[in-house]
Amino acid sequence: MKDRILDLIRDVPDYPQPGVMFKDITPLLDDHVAFKAVVDEIAGMFEVDKIVGIESRGFILAAPVAYRAGAGFVPVRKKGKLPSATLEESYDLEYGSATIEVHRDAMAPGDRVLIVDDVLATGGTARATVELVRRTGAEVVGIAVLMELAFLKGRERLEGVDLRSLVIV
Ligand code: 5GP
Repeated sequence: MKDRILDLIRDVPDYPQPGVMFKDITPLLDDHVAFKAVVDEIAGMFEVDKIVGIESRGFILAAPVAYRAGAGFVPVRKKGKLPSATLEESYDLEYGSATIEVHRDAMAPGDRVLIVDDVLATGGTARATVELVRRTGAEVVGIAVLMELAFLKGRERLEGVDLRSLVIV
């Protein structure tokens, strides 16, 4: 499966800015056999109550994983997008910072949670999501990503968390 995933993730140079090689997952999403295999693989990794998807490509993977796993789906969104009371967490970007939010009542102590996203780069987004989930009292059982960009060392920011990457480049 790894080779198929690698074949179906396209490198787009200089996106969203010069010097960045963007990993475009849309060819994989457009291949229903590969998409299903990826969803099934992630859904079978852990027994959980909730799947947390990170805006926005994380939603595309996390929602079918939740359906497949028989778990609830919880969105983590950029600040200002969720309508009810939220918890928020800020983290540093290369230039500036970002803030993400989750509904306060989306998880509770005792819930077992899997965080799902498409790509792990610097790990900042995933780290902040772990903090958000833990602040609700729920337990982060693991993080699953389609692709980990090892040269950005995101894994080092997630020490103590069970990080599963379907492919590492
Ligand atoms: P990080 O916080 O680990 O630096 O960045 C990860 C977040 O940015 C993820 O939510 C992911 O969707 C997005 N991201 C960063 N780089 C890429 C990339 O090359 N391809 C895709 N598809 N997403 C990326």
